[in-house]
Amino acid sequence: MKFFYQLKSINGTGWHDSTLLYTGFIEAADKKEAKAKLDNEFQMKLKERVVLKDGQKPPDYKLYLIQSSDSVIDFYLSERKCMTCSENYIILEQRNLGHHASRETCSDKCRSHNRPKVPEYFDSLDGYRKPVIYRITNKHNGKCYIGKTKQPFTLRWWQHFFHPTDSKFHKAIQESQVHDWSFEIVESIDGKATDEEIALCEQKWISNMDSIANGYNSVPSRKIEEQSQQTAFDGEVLNERC
Ligand SMILES: [Zn+2]
Repeated sequence: MKFFYQLKSINGTGWHDSTLLYTGFIEAADKKEAKAKLDNEFQMKLKERVVLKDGQKPPDYKLYLIQSSDSVIDFYLSERKCMTCSENYIILEQRNLGHHASRETCSDKCRSHNRPKVPEYFDSLDGYRKPVIYRITNKHNGKCYIGKTKQPFTLRWWQHFFHPTDSKFHKAIQESQVHDWSFEIVESIDGKATDEEIALCEQKWISNMDSIANGYNSVPSRKIEEQSQQTAFDGEVLNERC
């Protein structure tokens, strides 16, 4: 059997505050034998788990030891060619030298060199995410829901499924499977747009798609609804005063 292990140093403040020191593989008949071999190799009694009493200092090193699959071993031990510097490297060796080697690059330096440019939907100047208008369509009847978000849009998509309310859209979601729906970004908006401008854009899509009468939107763009309620309220106050 092959075992994967990591040795971490405990930095004094707690169990989770640890630094990776070494990663490796060891061959043994069972986990007990693997542990004994490692104790011997590192010349100390390594701890995997410790219950600390109040005020007790944690040990200096922590061992993570698990039986390993071939795919994990392949990942760490295969020879690769760095996409940036073209050097051949083995992920495990680079990691143990303190580099963040990955599938594509040999080190942090090469990785950052290779990092893709900021995509269009991020504002290039300040890194803010552009607000987007998205459409979620029921593949079976073609009816859709239009929404807006400044969050990562995949998060908003997820939220509809896992934080449902009792709106008509969320009721339809409850009665369906995630693969019954398609999700798309229909418009991205300037990052400096005001909430009102974003709402106007959303409302334009709601109107064009007819997604209230013939889809899953329950109400007009919320910001616009709030505004009209506010106007009505202001009107009442004014009338009272008059
Ligand atoms: Zn490299």
